[in-house]
Amino acid sequence: MPSLIERDRATLWHPYAPASGALPLWEVEAADGVALRLRDHDGRVHEVLDAMSSWWAVIHGYRNPVMDAAIQRQLSSFSHVMFGGLTHQPAVELAETLLAMVPLEPERRLERVFLADSGSISVEVALKLAVQFQTASGRPGRQRFLTIRGGYHGDTFAAMGVCDPVDGMHSAFPGLLASNIFAPRPPAAATATAEAIQEWRAAVEDLARRSSNELAAIIAEPILQGAGGMFNYPAECVTILREIADHHGLLLILDEIATGFGRTGELFAAGQAGVVPDILCVGKALTGGYLTLAATLCTGEVARVVSNRAAGALLHGPTFMANPLACAAANASLGILRDGNWRVDVARINAGLTAGLAPAMELDAVTDVRTIGAVGVIELRDAVHVPAVTRAAVEHGVWVRPFRNLVYAMPPYISSAADVGVMAAGMVAAVTGAVHANNQTVAG
Ligand code: PMP
Repeated sequence: MPSLIERDRATLWHPYAPASGALPLWEVEAADGVALRLRDHDGRVHEVLDAMSSWWAVIHGYRNPVMDAAIQRQLSSFSHVMFGGLTHQPAVELAETLLAMVPLEPERRLERVFLADSGSISVEVALKLAVQFQTASGRPGRQRFLTIRGGYHGDTFAAMGVCDPVDGMHSAFPGLLASNIFAPRPPAAATATAEAIQEWRAAVEDLARRSSNELAAIIAEPILQGAGGMFNYPAECVTILREIADHHGLLLILDEIATGFGRTGELFAAGQAGVVPDILCVGKALTGGYLTLAATLCTGEVARVVSNRAAGALLHGPTFMANPLACAAANASLGILRDGNWRVDVARINAGLTAGLAPAMELDAVTDVRTIGAVGVIELRDAVHVPAVTRAAVEHGVWVRPFRNLVYAMPPYISSAADVGVMAAGMVAAVTGAVHANNQTVAG
């Protein structure tokens, strides 16, 4: 009888992986709180702490009783209905809650919510909204986007088109990705000088001015670029993007799919910069990582212009839009945030990661160690051997998923100081072990 891992290898794709099954795979036997019980291909069981929150999403932990109960309540009512011509309590409650949470200022408020079925789709909707807004405003030539290098916004075609042009997937689909405009990356938060920020502003300003009559919007991840490199930059740069957008009649789209709901230390990274975007994307932690759901929020003005002129409607409507189970999960997750101590949790995780990852700086192979909010990053000189580092971390009781030259953690908010200590120590040990293994390979 083949094992589950063998059956998986015969039938399934995994994210960014070949079908050949060359990469290691673990079976999840149980997930509870911060812990995962994994079985490897030899049948060995490993108890590990999940330092990834399942890709930034499971902020309240696995089998959270409040989350479980909310979904079960909705399940006993109804699981799904189409959203065309119908509505339901979980969706309306979620829209109201989200709109009350996000940053606002007197002259710019987010007032309308599109419930999408994944982060990438919420970005597609944001880009569509921006183009439809410009067309409805009498500027149909504005169909391109300005963004900053090093970004990541999703895997669908329009979203891929605003991902980093070198590290993204542009080279794989050269004929299909829209030609957008890429400004330099802002200076790193840790080393940015006022002069470097001004130089960067001038470069972005120049690109915006030269192409403004073709541009619909600026899109960026505020403060922290996630999958594009775990790179954090000064809040002031987000303010600069807002000013440049306003100056040239562009909308500002902020993608907070990774940063939203407290991860960087504020409820939204945009709030750290005191910026209100015209369009905001959220996802991932929105449902506490229980079900797939994202949202695109826009200002009343964007909604009115798109609705009243030209097409007269926002041209998007997925089958599973506003899935009631997902909305119930989101309402429960946002309720836990509202009633809980996420600020204290994020500060505790930050302190634990800062102290626990510091020893990695001693390693020759490590070029930087940084933290922001509940995110900790070890940056290496060279690309990480992902299978080796992942295996080593599992042996040390930690689940991580490195990419490129980065080994990073963004633990669930419920992680105790002791949990974070184990995660950080496991990451440092895994990096140390993998570097030694590499040296031996070179030496041998
Ligand atoms: N934007 C950002 C900033 C993200 O981090 C991600 C996912 N890593 C996405 C968009 C795409 O979200 P999804 O994977 O849910 O489509």
